Amino acid sequence: MSGEKTIFKKIIDREIPADIIYEDELCLAFNDVNPQAPVHVLVIPKQEIQSIAHLQDSDQALAGHLLLTVGKLAKQLGLESGYRTIVNTGKEGGQTVDHLHLHLLGGRSLHWPPG
Ligand code: ADP
Repeated sequence: MSGEKTIFKKIIDREIPADIIYEDELCLAFNDVNPQAPVHVLVIPKQEIQSIAHLQDSDQALAGHLLLTVGKLAKQLGLESGYRTIVNTGKEGGQTVDHLHLHLLGGRSLHWPPG
């Protein structure tokens, strides 16, 4: 990827602070700065991948790891009544930060369909 670092890359590089709740060799999870539910966590790969649309076949293990991490964090955070996982992709998908991220939302009843 070229140009300016995304805000999430700056969080990975510890250039800006974030409320990091989990980290391993492949990914990072932190609380969303503008939470839309009592629990609103973002799970991101440390590797700079812009979106789902930019995943390669070689990212299969990483993509699975991100989903498994969401499941483990949800369990740790006590979301046994359920939760929602959202990945916005591109402009019309509502993606505003061009670094792949999985939203984990929970702690209240969530409505469907989204806007
Ligand atoms: P949207 O902004 O429409 O939710 P995205 O799916 O791209 O689109 O989500 C980006 C998310 O990143 C938003 O929920 C936003 O609140 C969050 N965010 C932006 N900057 C930060 C930050 N510095 N720390 C934590 N979360 C952030």
